[in-house]
Amino acid sequence: MRITKINDHLTQLTRLRFVNAYLVREDDGLTLVDTTLKGAGKDIIAAADAPIRRILLTHGHGDHAGSVDELREALGADVEYLLAEPDARIHAGEAKKTAGGWPKIASRPDRFPVARERIGSLEVVAAPGHTPGHVAFVDARDRTLLCGDTFTTMWGVAVTAKKLQRWPLAATATDDPELDRQSARTLRALEPARLAPGHGPVVEAPLVAMDRAIAKA
Ligand SMILES: [Zn+2]
Repeated sequence: MRITKINDHLTQLTRLRFVNAYLVREDDGLTLVDTTLKGAGKDIIAAADAPIRRILLTHGHGDHAGSVDELREALGADVEYLLAEPDARIHAGEAKKTAGGWPKIASRPDRFPVARERIGSLEVVAAPGHTPGHVAFVDARDRTLLCGDTFTTMWGVAVTAKKLQRWPLAATATDDPELDRQSARTLRALEPARLAPGHGPVVEAPLVAMDRAIAKA
């Protein structure tokens, strides 16, 4: 796993060169945003330089939720697990699977993050489309946008609603492109100072690139 310290609040964890999770520093320890694929639990725990207090997912796809079960087992039930309700219902078999990979996840969230809620320094932003329950998070301290899979940055900034692109993996897993485009505009309107995506490097001062990506999508 590649560990990239972005700033005092944010560390990016990358597996297989293209799947990211993030450690966000809070007063009480760390918030883990996404878990990458199955099998990353030990590496994520080893990368944490403070206790992980909560596991927060942008959405339920296997390359984001894959290590939730092993992390829950290793960290114990005191570590809160949050995933938005529509995606949690797919994991629970209560709703139909949408596009993309949905592995078996036994863990059930302790609660569902809701739009505009603050979880430590992170504000929850509803960004459905890639999956029905997809959410993004803005760090109120420095306007970092953890955008999940609404945007990718593998070969430049792109909206996952755009089907034909140089890095198509997250695009083909996008359930509702029109809703995803709307969410991309919602996230752009937040005027983030940096974009921290599920796939690709962190991009500083991303507004022009986001505008270009939205225009192309
Ligand atoms: Zn995804």
